[in-house]
Amino acid sequence: MRIDILTLFPDMCNAVLNESIIGRARKAGKVEINCIDIRDYTLDKHRRVDDKPYGGGMGMVMAPQPIYDCFQSLCNESGDKPHLIYLTPQGKTLTQERVKELSRLEHIALLCGHYEGIDERVIEELQPEEISVGDYVLTGGELPALILADSVSRMLPGVLSDDECFEEESHFNSLLEYPQYTHPAEWNGREVPEVLLSGHHANVEKWRREKSLERTLKRRPDMLEKAELTKKDREFLSNIEKD
Ligand code: SAM
Repeated sequence: MRIDILTLFPDMCNAVLNESIIGRARKAGKVEINCIDIRDYTLDKHRRVDDKPYGGGMGMVMAPQPIYDCFQSLCNESGDKPHLIYLTPQGKTLTQERVKELSRLEHIALLCGHYEGIDERVIEELQPEEISVGDYVLTGGELPALILADSVSRMLPGVLSDDECFEEESHFNSLLEYPQYTHPAEWNGREVPEVLLSGHHANVEKWRREKSLERTLKRRPDMLEKAELTKKDREFLSNIEKD
């Protein structure tokens, strides 16, 4: 899969994407991620990419021309038309379900706004999908683009060491994950649950499933509506509800 991030701060994005699991995946060619500097496409002799908003008011607005030319150049270079996503607090909130769908695409491009945002006309022209990372406002689209690039990349084959790594994780199947423990078996007077030390695979699985159901019921009952539940799961949940 190829991901292009269109940004005014490519170094900021690369600094994050060169680290840890995604950094290794990039080096190993499991995912191609390019950070493209929108400023390289401005026709302004002072390399400006923004200007004051028409109608007055605070801040600066990113001009349409450099963004449009940057995207056209990407299309010409790649020979396709990547699925364009504009990261904006006005978009649909990102979910694991959408992450899964996006990870099946060959090529996506992530457009990062900055300052007061982007001139509306380039949004109308390019018609990107609009995605938000939550109901709060950040200074730029770089952190949201990194969240999207990270969450999509870790779905790709070979990026994580074992597919189960994400299949049991929170949100993958509309459940929250069970609690995790590592060595030592006792820390600060707190013990790891006995069953996890037992080596009894079936009992461990049962305990994890029940903890996962219990957590989801207590913390995010809304998620259970979409979860695939067995008869046993439903019985377990109704017993907790009775308590
Ligand atoms: N004036 C805009 C508004 O009120 O909708 C907010 C602009 S924000 C300060 C600058 C840029 O940060 C946006 O263009 C967008 O790319 C990014 N951004 C900020 N918050 C975001 C969020 N919650 N999700 C995705 N992108 C966000």
